[in-house]
Amino acid sequence: MVPVIALVGRPNVGKSTLFNQLTRSRDALVADYPGLTRDRKYGQGKMLGRDFMVIDTGGISGDEEGIDHVMAEQSLLAIDEADAVIFLVDGRSGLNPADEMIANHLRLTDKPYHLVVNKTDGVNPDVAIADFFELGLSQPLPIAASHGRGVKSLIELVLDAF
Ligand code: GDP
Ligand code: MG
Repeated sequence: MVPVIALVGRPNVGKSTLFNQLTRSRDALVADYPGLTRDRKYGQGKMLGRDFMVIDTGGISGDEEGIDHVMAEQSLLAIDEADAVIFLVDGRSGLNPADEMIANHLRLTDKPYHLVVNKTDGVNPDVAIADFFELGLSQPLPIAASHGRGVKSLIELVLDAF
């Protein structure tokens, strides 16, 4: 079985950028994976010789970005479908109330998750992650999705459990 990784986080943190990095736009055919729905975007990733599937959430139909309850619902559904969760936050804008909401969901699930601080290019990663210890989740991991920095070690960490 191929591990399924969900990308969750509030709008604009870089989920789709990371999705594209991981899948290089190899979109998965939902029909090949019973149980998955068309409301979320699925892609196939291959990195470090391992196959995995990635789920992107939010902004798929174009009109749900910024609508908190829809974001929350999509996150919950994606978490349900996933074997592991990447929770993305924005290292440039700092902690946000919507981050807290998603953190609360993650605390209620038994899925393994990784707190990942994106957009740490051109900033001090230690400073960028500092805000997010307050969420009380896992150790925040800095990446820069648009540059691909930290992405390989992130996937290595996520796939290590499978
Ligand atoms: P989503 O709403 O979570 O899917 O976020 P997007 O992937 O659409 O990205 C939102 C914005 O953040 C876009 O303008 C991206 O180019 C930008 N972005 C994404 N990753 C990075 C990064 O690592 N560094 C910087 N500086 N900008 C990024
Ligand atoms: Mg997006």
